[in-house]
Amino acid sequence: MPKRAKRKRGLLVVISGPSGVGKSTVVRRLFKVDPDLLMSISSTTRPPRPGEVHGQHYFFVTEEEFDHKVKKHEFLEWAKVHGCYYGTPKSFIDDMLTKGQTVILEVDVQGAASVKRLTEEGKLKAATVFVFLIPPSVDILAFRLKKRKTEDEELVNYRLRAAIAELQVMEKYDYIVVNDKVESAADKIKAIINVEKERTLLN
Ligand code: 5GP
Repeated sequence: MPKRAKRKRGLLVVISGPSGVGKSTVVRRLFKVDPDLLMSISSTTRPPRPGEVHGQHYFFVTEEEFDHKVKKHEFLEWAKVHGCYYGTPKSFIDDMLTKGQTVILEVDVQGAASVKRLTEEGKLKAATVFVFLIPPSVDILAFRLKKRKTEDEELVNYRLRAAIAELQVMEKYDYIVVNDKVESAADKIKAIINVEKERTLLN
């Protein structure tokens, strides 16, 4: 039997999807299925929603603090999403990939495009896989956004329009996963990760 090459760098799993598709719930489930996965925690200027914890869901920072981090090149990528800033921590990702870990990155479509560009330009040396989570239908997405009750109606409609626009870019992703049931969506992503890890072992 051929000897397996040892994987040197980890795998970066980029997960995007429209607001309200249930990304966070699916990702939470994914960590239950595989506790060895690591989550990248972004910085954001968005105020915390009820129940969100600093350092666990996000690092909640002021615009000044965010600017400072941008200037110090602390972000792998950053973007303005729905009027607030979000950035992915560079050093954490670098460290974990060096250790051969699998890191989950939950970012919007701009963030995913930036990560793709960085890998294509050779500025990010890592195996990557891009997963786009979609709702079973736009009606269900609208229902979920309204049910969340954390935003007013105008913002819900704005996010819904943005979600429909985001759906147009899904063909740029490697995999499209329908979030019909949280458990099965998480299982599908886990299966994708397993396959991609095997693929990167060949490098
Ligand atoms: P939310 O405010 O609902 O937590 O997130 C809004 C959007 O920002 C989601 O699409 C989420 O995936 C995205 N997002 C979260 N962190 C980052 C990040 O570090 N970079 C980018 N580009 N998008 C992010």
